[in-house]
Amino acid sequence: MRIAPPDSAVSEILPAVAEFLNAPRMQIGPAGCAAASGQSFAVYNPATGAELARVPAGGAEDVDRAVRAAQAAFEGPWSQMLPAQRQGLMLRLADLIEQNGEELAQLETLEQGKSIMLSRLIEVQASAEYFRYMAGWATKIEGATLDVSIPIPPGMRYQAYTRKEPVGVVAAITPWNFPLNMAAWKIAPALATGCTVVLKPAEETPLTSIRLAQLALEAGIPEGVVNVVTGLGHEAGAALVAHPGVAKIAFTGSTETGKLIGIQAMKDMKRATLELGGKAPMVMFDDMDLDLLGAAAGIGTFFNSGQTCCSGGRIYVQKGIYDKALEVIAGVTRSLAVGPGMDPANQINPVVSARHQAHVRACIARGIEDGATPLIGASTPAQGFYVAPELFTGVRQDMALMQEEIFGPVVTVTPFDDPDEGIALANDSRYGLGASIWTTDLNKMMRYVPKLRAGVVWVNSHNIPDQNLPFGGVKQSGIGREHGRGALDNYLETKSVCVAYR
Ligand code: ADP
Repeated sequence: MRIAPPDSAVSEILPAVAEFLNAPRMQIGPAGCAAASGQSFAVYNPATGAELARVPAGGAEDVDRAVRAAQAAFEGPWSQMLPAQRQGLMLRLADLIEQNGEELAQLETLEQGKSIMLSRLIEVQASAEYFRYMAGWATKIEGATLDVSIPIPPGMRYQAYTRKEPVGVVAAITPWNFPLNMAAWKIAPALATGCTVVLKPAEETPLTSIRLAQLALEAGIPEGVVNVVTGLGHEAGAALVAHPGVAKIAFTGSTETGKLIGIQAMKDMKRATLELGGKAPMVMFDDMDLDLLGAAAGIGTFFNSGQTCCSGGRIYVQKGIYDKALEVIAGVTRSLAVGPGMDPANQINPVVSARHQAHVRACIARGIEDGATPLIGASTPAQGFYVAPELFTGVRQDMALMQEEIFGPVVTVTPFDDPDEGIALANDSRYGLGASIWTTDLNKMMRYVPKLRAGVVWVNSHNIPDQNLPFGGVKQSGIGREHGRGALDNYLETKSVCVAYR
């Protein structure tokens, strides 16, 4: 069934979803399989807290089989394909994602908890578009011809050129906040460049990744090109990162895990891109368009219940509009309907897991203990992993609320006097992923955008990535950029070829 209208509620679970949940298996080479150990682990429905499915607990042996399958495909049929053939298969996969869109959307909301509207629009539709976008690049990979000045031996002339070649097997390790979309962010550029992939999805949300690998086979992508090993981070994930057959690691997740992976990658000289945590500031100047305040809080902060790495959790407001801004942002926070993601009328849905619920609640409790003022204090459904949206004022820069990543529906609103102070507060963080400034003054915008230490700066908007907009962090937010033409280089090696002739 194709994707339902984004804002329609789910009245019944599709039979295909129920059937899939019976026995989801890892995807290695041509077939679904159990873990070599025979072990499995539970995936929970965040809306109820009940077990949703059991998936194989892959370990080193399964990772080894998957990497071997990916190596065989890389050296075999995949490398024989013309770029246009790869492009065609990726476009077919995009179509299949859409054709199975409602099934994927339901699965995503069931395992992740998010609004079915976001599952349809982002996890499904934007992922299909991502494969289409990257499919376009498959036929446009190019090197350069180079003049060189080599003077020996006498009489010899040279011409050089570069070839862009796929790095090989890519280990993709994804987080639980946008499971299907993050898988697309990694798999699509890998396929466009001729690499093969072993994906280790987050243990909380492995289901749509498994389904995506099945659809890749159905699209005609050769077996072994897209493999999915489900398992725990410190087992399957660590084994994958350390596997000698892996050439490149594409990771999105926490800064702590990213550092571990980066160190391991360096030991083996594997290529690595690390998209890590954030603590994004939104800096609102006196002259901003006040009509944008609602969207700033709704999309900038509370999108996906605050579970995005560039969620604008720190709002700094210049004093002239502080009272007005606080009133609007508090109004938005208070108005957000909390409930299961299957009903798109609910804007705050459960967070992904009991563990994460405990983390976000502990951040709120710590804020209160440190002396910040919570303005909302709403309640949540008793069952499921809910956290009510909260807004804090009176937050000092040195408080954990201001410095630590919360990854939940929690925002701080803080006044500042002059623009330089606002930018200094924004930059006072170990993170540097996303940031935004809000102003109608072009001069101010041009002056302050360069001063923000972040990989992405939005002006008069926040938290909106695009496939053609490079995305990644500075400081502790990571290394490398995804999206756009530049992302292809993460998956390509440059080979210089120097040709002598008389
Ligand atoms: P969180 O703490 O929010 O779960 P992580 O950064 O630990 O975030 O998880 C992101 C991804 O990294 C998940 O797929 C997880 O299984 C994986 N992971 C966790 N630890 C490791 C590790 N030591 N090696 C490789 N992958 C890991």
